[in-house]
Formats: sequence, structure tokens, C-alpha cells
Amino acid sequence: MSRIAYVNGRYRPHRNALIHVEDRGYQFADGVYEVCEVRAAHIVDERRHLARLTRSLAALRIELPMRPKALSIVLHETVRRNRVRDGIVYLQVTRGVARRDHAFPAPGTAPSMVVTARSHDTAKAEHAAAAGIAVITLADNRWARPDIKSVSLLPNVLAKQAAREAGAREAWFIDARGFVTEGASSNAWIVTAAGDVVTRPVDNGILNGISRAVVVDAIAATGLRLIERPFTATEAKAAREAFVTAASQIVQPVVRIDGNPVGDGRPGPLAAALRREFHRHAEFT
Ligand code: PLP
Repeated sequence: MSRIAYVNGRYRPHRNALIHVEDRGYQFADGVYEVCEVRAAHIVDERRHLARLTRSLAALRIELPMRPKALSIVLHETVRRNRVRDGIVYLQVTRGVARRDHAFPAPGTAPSMVVTARSHDTAKAEHAAAAGIAVITLADNRWARPDIKSVSLLPNVLAKQAAREAGAREAWFIDARGFVTEGASSNAWIVTAAGDVVTRPVDNGILNGISRAVVVDAIAATGLRLIERPFTATEAKAAREAFVTAASQIVQPVVRIDGNPVGDGRPGPLAAALRREFHRHAEFT
């Protein structure tokens, strides 16, 4: 089946879905994005993703390209046209097309919007979660606003490639004080020897993950203790469990950090339970 992409008002065959060479997303990474999980043909936590999109756009002074209701229709229609049951839907908005000049283009320049969707193999994802992933750590060399979900992802790209080359699936960024900020495309969590679940508080230094918020709710409902505080890589390596959260992976157990096994080197029971519980605390539209 051929894939379909929404590009600036039109649904096009994916291979012909093109953006202008002077789109500011292409020229300057001047844009933002969202990734929502699609499950059983429903979009997961669309409301919270669109709220974060609105916040990211406002922070960069880019207009919302259409009303949230219309945007929602485009997201669902892209999912439908691609016949995605389980997978992701991707949305990108940039400051639009204009003659190359760093400063903002003339007022009224229309933002560009692209939406794509693709299926994933759920059996493969469950298999990966049952095995857990390895992470590496490296210095956080990003700009000071990772809370904005910008398409400017070069440090994340390089970190992910470093992880790949080290036989790992994720890279955890470490701030100047030695604390883990987050993963290249996920939020980072540990479970202490006392059984407390620990994750960094939300501030400008990390993306306020929607899956993170869902897991916070799941933890509250299961009576576990959540402590929002920074933790170091050393603490993580000695933790009972570790895991990451992201819309594309839900809750993914971490079994090795920089080559050191976490706990007994197998996915922990709390991470597995939070993965099982996740969708009971998410919204479906
Ligand atoms: N942190 C970063 C840097 C990310 O890129 C992502 C997701 O892509 C996340 C955290 C997790 O966010 P969410 O749970 O909203 O997918």
C-alpha cells in the first residue's frame, strides 16, 4: 500500500510529498513537531500533544496553521489514509517559505505543515521491551531550551548515532553538574533500591514528555512513590531499575548503562507493570 502525506493543504503520495527549498524548516530548522502514538486506529493523548504543540509554537512565535479542530481532522485523516492501526502520526509546523534571511519573514507568511503516519510492528516492539535496551551517556551539548519541541535535533541525531555505534538504543544527556537530563528522544527514569521512582522535574532543560505525564498518573494510581529530582549516571547504574518513556516506545526498560548492567541486567518489574498499565491512563481519540 502506498503511503500518503499531508503537505500544506493536500494529501499526496509520500514519494511526491515535497517542501519548497526555501522552507525555513529546511533552511534553519525553524519549526516544531509532535509525534503521537496510534493504537487500535486511535490517536493517543492528542489533546496533550496539541497543547504542547501550541506552547512550542507560541515560544517561537509561529502561528498555529489552522484551528485545533481542523488540525485534529488532518491527523485522523492521515492515520486513516495510511491505514495505520498501531504506529505513529508525525506533525511538523515550520515558519513557512520565504527568501533566505535569518530574521522572521514578513508578517502573514503562512506556516508550513506536514503530517505523516506509519505503522509499526507491535510484536517486534513487545519483543524489544521484553529484552530491554542499552543506553550510553554523553555530555548534554544542546541549546538551553529543549522544552521547546524544535525540529533542530542535531545534537540528538549525533547522540543517537553514538549510541548506535556503541551497540545501544538510546543516549542519555548529562548536564554540567553531572545529572541526567533526558534521552535523545525520551525521558529518563530510575527505580531506587527503596522502590521509589525517580525522574527529573520538568524545567527548560528537558522536554515535558506526554508519556512522562501519563506515567506520573499511572504511578499515582498504583500507589508507588514518585520523586521528581535529578539523578546522576552513577546513581542510575546502581539503581534497581531504569527505563525511558516516549510516545513511540511507551515505557521501555533500560538494562545496561555505559555497559554496566542495571539491577540483574533484565527488565525490571515496575517498568514492565507501568508499560502494561500505560494505556489505562492515556486518552484515545
Ligand atoms: N525527550 C525528548 C528529547 C524527546 O525527543 C521525546 C520524544 O520524542 C521525549 C523526551 C518524550 O516525549 P513524549 O513522551 O511526549 O513522546
